[in-house]
Amino acid sequence: MARYIFVTGGVVSSLGKGLTSASLGYLLKSQGYKVRIRKMDPYLNVDPGTMSPFQHGEVFVTDDGAETDLDLGHYERFTNISSKQTDNITTGRVYSDIIQKEREGGYLGKTVQVIPHVTNRIKEFIKKDITNEDFVICEIGGTVGDIESLPFLEAIRQFSNEHGKSKTLFIHLTLVPFLKSSDEIKTKPTQHSVKELRSIGIQPDIIICRSQQSIPLDQRKKISLFCNIPIDNVIETVDVRTIYEAPISFFNEKLDRQVLKYFKLKSKKQPNLLSWKKITKITLNTKKILNIAIIGKYVNLKDAYKSLDEALTHGGISNKIKVNLIRIESDNLKPSQIKNKLKNVSGILIPGGFGKRGTEGKISAIKYAREKKIPFLGICFGMQMAMIEFARNILKIKKAGSTELDKNCYPVIGLINEWTKDGKIIKGTDKNLGGTMRLGLYEAKLRNNSAIKNIYKSNSIKERHRHRYEVNVNLMSKFENKGLIFSGISPDNKLPEIIELKNHPWFIGVQFHPEFKSRPLNPHPLFSSFIKAAKSFNGK
Ligand code: GLN
Repeated sequence: MARYIFVTGGVVSSLGKGLTSASLGYLLKSQGYKVRIRKMDPYLNVDPGTMSPFQHGEVFVTDDGAETDLDLGHYERFTNISSKQTDNITTGRVYSDIIQKEREGGYLGKTVQVIPHVTNRIKEFIKKDITNEDFVICEIGGTVGDIESLPFLEAIRQFSNEHGKSKTLFIHLTLVPFLKSSDEIKTKPTQHSVKELRSIGIQPDIIICRSQQSIPLDQRKKISLFCNIPIDNVIETVDVRTIYEAPISFFNEKLDRQVLKYFKLKSKKQPNLLSWKKITKITLNTKKILNIAIIGKYVNLKDAYKSLDEALTHGGISNKIKVNLIRIESDNLKPSQIKNKLKNVSGILIPGGFGKRGTEGKISAIKYAREKKIPFLGICFGMQMAMIEFARNILKIKKAGSTELDKNCYPVIGLINEWTKDGKIIKGTDKNLGGTMRLGLYEAKLRNNSAIKNIYKSNSIKERHRHRYEVNVNLMSKFENKGLIFSGISPDNKLPEIIELKNHPWFIGVQFHPEFKSRPLNPHPLFSSFIKAAKSFNGK
């Protein structure tokens, strides 16, 4: 049986449970163990697919088409293990499954209750789809003490009781603040948070203390004494200078070895930290800066484009340059402001998006990139907007648009109701908005002698999708005659996947989201190439 590691958080949110789980996952994997990481989210949405990235941050899409929490992006980027639909569950999903089963008569006249029905469903999730994994790391969203997370905590308590301490481990991540006025590190919030956990029957085995500075031995001893854990299991995590330092920092603090020791296991080989050291060094020491504009709607919340920001940084790492992201709100971006706002940028990126607000600003920025020959990357909605810009300004189709934004437009982009995957027809809809888009991995064939083929160095690629609308394939020759090439298309030739401009140094639009597959230790070729083009534009 796999060993289960439960990661909870205390005192405050945003302490970096995701990064902790991802780093631990990496350290265990690189010592020869098979690892899975999963996330339990206490909110009532069935999945984050319908949530605004402005409130919740990005929706991360997996190969198998799940719309998940952005923490799964951290897990993938650090461990390079593809997450699956079965790796993320929410309270909404648990209740929706239970209520459906109840309506179908699945509980045989019983009263349906939080214990045992909700907790049983959570325990099922924890074990589902696990085969030969050595470790399953389960992160519990929220903070201990929240009403919402109680059923999850109760479920992991029961799980540990049923499977025994030899198969389960509780890690609790807390904040250990430094009080400037008294020049002291305070352990009391940690003590209280652990007290709260113990009141629901969970005794942590390892406490990870997030702190701005190193925690003196006396304070560690205090945490060990009051929280009832061995001193070696009080592990500090001092703020890192870049997230790529996290696996190195946790290794230096022996987190992985304490976990292995707990399970009476040995390291099968030395973890490879050299690559992390290398990219940390590049990230911290690179002086040269490249300005890239991201023109989108949710630009004020940093996490709204998490994977994209990461992928651009990865592209910077592979080109040994620091990418400075200039976030420009498209909503009130007037054509008259474009020149001024974009004067110092070396590349323009329009990310994925939904709805009409801010589209005209995006279209004006694309026109500017096309005419001034500034490297341009359009992702999903960004590619769709590039098509509309070209149709309006080059093909002179003034009413060119997307049916998502205007039902009466000339449909350059239109709603697609069905497509094929692995030979099967899948039906889309815009009536029920949850999980009904074209989601997950789809193949694209790449055209010979195209820029994109040169970048991917392959005849066919598979990338992750998340959209409801598609480029109108019937207009292909109209666009191609004027120099906009459809350089990637679905295997059945029905769905355009990639466009590029002939007379432009670097102008590419993709219907998919390449950012989900970029890794710090393996930057995505499209982002490396985009940054390279921006770098040479900057040199001009
Ligand atoms: N709103 C567009 C669609 O549904 C694009 C979605 C996206 O950018 N992810 O097709």
